Amino acid sequence: MADKKIPYKIYLEESEMPKAWYNVRADMKNKPAPLLNPGTHQPMTAEELGGVFCDELVQQELDNENAYIPIPQEIQDFYKMYRPSPLVRAYCLEEKLQTPAKIYYKFEGNNTSGSHKLNSAIAQAYYAKQQGLKGVTTETGAGQWGTALSMACSYFDLDCKVFMVKVSYEQKPFRREVMRTYGASVTPSPSDTTDVGKKILAEHPGTTGSLGCAISEAVEVAVKNPGYRYVLGSVLNQVLLHQSVIGLETKAALDKYGIKPDIIIGCAGGGSNLGGLISPFMGEKLRGEADYRIVAVEPASCPSFTRGVYAYDFCDTGMVCPLAKMYTLGSDFIPSANHAGGLRYHGMSPVLSQLYDDGLMEAISVPQTAVFEAAEQFARVEGILPAPESSHAIRVAIDEAMKCKETGEEKTIVFGLTGTGYFDMVAYEKFHDGEMDDYIPTDEELAQYRARLPKVD
Ligand SMILES: *Cc1c(COP(=O)(O)O)cnc(C)c1O
Repeated sequence: MADKKIPYKIYLEESEMPKAWYNVRADMKNKPAPLLNPGTHQPMTAEELGGVFCDELVQQELDNENAYIPIPQEIQDFYKMYRPSPLVRAYCLEEKLQTPAKIYYKFEGNNTSGSHKLNSAIAQAYYAKQQGLKGVTTETGAGQWGTALSMACSYFDLDCKVFMVKVSYEQKPFRREVMRTYGASVTPSPSDTTDVGKKILAEHPGTTGSLGCAISEAVEVAVKNPGYRYVLGSVLNQVLLHQSVIGLETKAALDKYGIKPDIIIGCAGGGSNLGGLISPFMGEKLRGEADYRIVAVEPASCPSFTRGVYAYDFCDTGMVCPLAKMYTLGSDFIPSANHAGGLRYHGMSPVLSQLYDDGLMEAISVPQTAVFEAAEQFARVEGILPAPESSHAIRVAIDEAMKCKETGEEKTIVFGLTGTGYFDMVAYEKFHDGEMDDYIPTDEELAQYRARLPKVD
C-alpha cells in the first residue's frame, strides 16, 4: 500500500554524523534534581563525585547549561566503525499489519554488544584513558553493558572489572565469555570479594542478585583501588548525553526526506536509549518549535514510571551511591524471578523523570507475554531477532499502528530498536513452551518497598 519513495533503510553519510552530543538539560526549564550526598543530603560536589567517577564525566554529569558538547575526534572515529546506524522503514511490518501508519525504527543492534550501550561505553572509556586511569569497574545485568564496556576498554587498553548479576551469570554463560574474550574479569554478584557483597549474602543467603547489589560492589571496588573509577551504563545524565547520537542521527535521517514523526516510542529500563532517541525532538518541544507524542514503555513487572513515586532514592542496594530524585519503586525492589525481559532497574533517569513529571512525555507498562508476542511478530517479517527489552517498544508501536488501522489515520511512528536477542533464547524458549507468566506486583508489595525510601526534605 505504501508508495516506497522512502528507501527501506535511510543511511547518513559519514560526514553527516553528529560532531557534538546534544544536552537536553540545557533546554529544560525545570532542571533534573541534583544528586545528593547520602550522608548529608547536600548536593554532591564535583570533588565528591570525582572520587567515584572520571573527572570529565563529572563535568558532563553536572552540566545543565551547554546544549552541545563536542564529541572528541577519537570517539567520532570509533563511532564510524559501527555507525551511523540505519533508520529502517518497516514496510514489511506495515504490510503484514495492513496499517496506513508509517513505521520507522532506529536499529542499534549492529555491533558485538548487540545494543546501543557501546555509544556510551566508548565515551566513558575514552575519558578514563585521558585521565590516566588503570581501569574501571561496573555492573551488568543482562550483559549488554558489560560487553560494550569490555569492548571499549580493550580498545583503550584499560582493565575492566564487571560484576554480573548472579542469575544472569548462570543463565548466560556465553555473555560472560564474550566479555572475557575482550579481556574483562567477570564476577557473579553478590560475591564474597567485597564487604557489601558479604553483607548482602549474610542477610539474603542464596539470593540470585540484582542490579542494585552489583552496583554497590562495583562502586566499592572502584573506591578502594587507586587508579580505578566506576562507570554506569544507564540512568546518569552523562549516559543520556552520549546516547543523544541515536536521536541526532534519527532526526538527520528523517529531515533528509522531510518526515516529521507523530509518535516516538522507546523502551525504558534506566532511560538511556529513550533519553538519547528523544533528546533532539524533546529539545524542539521544549523550545516550542514542534510537538511530538513521546512514549516510554516499561515492563508491568518493574513499573517505575507508571506505579513508582517521584522521590529521592538510593541508586543501589548497598546505599553507597548518591541519592537521585527519580521515579522509583524503592532501591531494594527486585522484579519477580519469572520476569525475563530485562529492564529490571528500580529507578529511572532523573532527566526523564523530570520530563515525565512535567507532562512532556507519557509512559505505558506492558505484560511480558504481550512483549514476546510482538517480538515474534516483528522477527517473522522484519528479519531481525529483537532483544526482549527492545520488544517493549515494538509492542506499543504495533498497538499504535493497529489503532491507525481502525481510524484510517496515516500517523508516522518512530521507535527505538535497541538491540538483538541472540543471548535471550532461554526467555524465548519459556515463551514458546508456554512457561512464561505475567506476574504483576500488587499495590501492597509496592507499598512495602516505598515505605523504605530514604527521608529527604
Ligand atoms: C540496556 C538495554 C536497554 C535498557 O536500558 P536503557 O538505559 O533504558 O536504554 C534496552 N535495550 C537493550 C538492548 C539494552 O541492552
